[in-house]
Amino acid sequence: MENLFQKIKINMENQLRQRSESRCELCGNENNLQIFEVPNSPENSSEGAILICGTCKEQIENPEKVEANHWRCLNDSMWSTVPAVQVMAWRMLNRLKAEGWPQDLLDMMYLDEEITAWAKAGLEENKATALTHRDSNGVILEAGDSVVLIKDLKVKGSSMVAKQGTAVRRISLDHENEKYIEGKVDGQQIVIITDFVKKI
Ligand SMILES: [Zn+2]
Repeated sequence: MENLFQKIKINMENQLRQRSESRCELCGNENNLQIFEVPNSPENSSEGAILICGTCKEQIENPEKVEANHWRCLNDSMWSTVPAVQVMAWRMLNRLKAEGWPQDLLDMMYLDEEITAWAKAGLEENKATALTHRDSNGVILEAGDSVVLIKDLKVKGSSMVAKQGTAVRRISLDHENEKYIEGKVDGQQIVIITDFVKKI
């Protein structure tokens, strides 16, 4: 099984090297090339992957390491005829659009409807994972966790007070605000500020 997998991988790399002439399909760099499977790809073949260099890969995977100027390379690669390259170019431009020039490039870019849907699917995923909810100790909270209240909380719009020490099970996370979680106290669904809870 493993051999077969290896073989497929090598085949894919050969195809990608041919297509890209052994250059990073985003910035043209010839060093440290590797296969990058574009997330949310509808294809399960080399169509859904691109060949990129270590620099591009590191910055794609670690938003805090992004150097906007490196991505001026998209000025050229956004015109690639390869859908997977177009998708990554679009996503990076979108991530950097606050810089100004990426927005100008985005405005010039034309993507087929199908490719636009693919590009945007990746974006929503980023958005959902971009917010990190943390409890009063900085511990990361996830949907389904249980927390305990660390002080008495007055519930807005009612006379109810949720007592310190109350356990709230199976919380859900607010996807717009990383300070808010939701859970049931005394049978009532309430919004709780993460500063006032501790994960259990
Ligand atoms: Zn590169």
